[in-house]
Amino acid sequence: MSSLTQPLETLNQYLVQAMEQGLGKNGLIFPINWEEIEDPDCRSFCEHLEQLFLQINEAYRFAEDLAIGQLKAEVSRSNIFAMPLKALQSSLRHLTWQTNQVADGDLSQQVTFLGEFSESFNRMIASLRDKKSLEQRLKTITDVMGEGIYLVDTQGALLFANPEAERLLGYGAEEMAGEVILHAIHKQYADGTLFAPEETQLLSAIAEGLTYNDDSCIFTCKSGRLMPVSLACRPVVTGDKLEGSVLAFHDISEQKKYQESLHKINALLEMQASTDGLTGICNRMKFSKLLKVEIARATRYGSAMSILMFDIDRFKDVNDTYGHQAGDKVLIEMARIINSNIRSTDILARWGGEEFIIIAPGCGLEQGRQLADILRLKVEQTTFSVPRKVTASFGVAIFRADDTELSLTNRADSALYRAKEQGRNRVETEDSIQTSIHI
Ligand code: GH3
Ligand code: MG
Ligand code: MG
Repeated sequence: MSSLTQPLETLNQYLVQAMEQGLGKNGLIFPINWEEIEDPDCRSFCEHLEQLFLQINEAYRFAEDLAIGQLKAEVSRSNIFAMPLKALQSSLRHLTWQTNQVADGDLSQQVTFLGEFSESFNRMIASLRDKKSLEQRLKTITDVMGEGIYLVDTQGALLFANPEAERLLGYGAEEMAGEVILHAIHKQYADGTLFAPEETQLLSAIAEGLTYNDDSCIFTCKSGRLMPVSLACRPVVTGDKLEGSVLAFHDISEQKKYQESLHKINALLEMQASTDGLTGICNRMKFSKLLKVEIARATRYGSAMSILMFDIDRFKDVNDTYGHQAGDKVLIEMARIINSNIRSTDILARWGGEEFIIIAPGCGLEQGRQLADILRLKVEQTTFSVPRKVTASFGVAIFRADDTELSLTNRADSALYRAKEQGRNRVETEDSIQTSIHI
């Protein structure tokens, strides 16, 4: 074997092995020390070949760096592979810059230099652009809505708030971002009882992805003001995944105030409709309703009940002598005296004109007569605002099982008529057994 073939043979074996096994961690290692080769041509050849090995190693490492995204790696200009590798490096750097632009919201980026990849990249940008435009449209809708909107995750943490929600509650979307908004704003029931927010139906609905509505929900504003709201909560589901919920709400304070004043007006109207305008006691319509109830009760329990009808004696004279206004005053005084001398379960009503009627539940005929006599005496002994004695005559009837309102009041009326006939300032019962003092 000549001195020329020996190094080439070693080189050849190394190259065959390298091509079979690929480049190892250390790359190509020139297998011989060419400086010891005597033949100048062979030495020069080996020297150049070793340089080529070094360039291959450098290009290999550079490509490896690019492959793992180290785009700042360098390769010497003199490397024979430098040009295409640097072109690839520059494309990847440009693509990185474009991707950052996209991340910052610039969806005008287009890639043209990476063939098939360009198409994928550009399609991705187009789809992002579609989503962004949809997002923009939704944002415009929520911006102009008169309804507060919160988007929360499944824990109730705030992801988005529209301007109306900020205006209503006074919390800026940014200061509440990521907070479990409901802990701050949802603290009590409509009746004022405080609750632990994590125990509320609303948070459970959010956690479980359920639809939830509440027409009398109380939110606490940043200022501390309690605001009644009407609230609708709907889950947001993408595919099978529960993403969170949307809460839409509006202030119903005005509506509540309106309802409250309506209730007051209705109560007042009802009171007016059932009250006698002059004396303030029940009017005949209210009396009729109450008598129905008492008849039903007496029928159901078999209990006794008396009706006392009374009429001011010679009242026309009072009017004629002292005037109608003085007469009115006497009627008011009469109602007050009687009211303060009957039981709280007894009911006094104005029957009409200067006639009154009393329902005395639980009173039999004798008890009714006694009560009537006590009242008659009380009236007789009272000093009224007119300078004369005022008296009244009473008729008493007792409830019978087959009685209607009319039959019962008619018997009391007949008894009263008899009391008048027999001289006034006296009590007559329906069976006329008992009578009392005369004038
Ligand atoms: P009697 O003893 O028979 O009941 O005689 P009387 O004068 O009380 O009865 P009469 O039916 O003749 O007159 C009733 C009077 O009551 C006539 C009417 O002007 C008066 N009256 C009825 N309602 C009112 C009222 O609201 N205010 C006043 N001031 N007077 C009234
Ligand atoms: Mg009278
Ligand atoms: Mg009368």
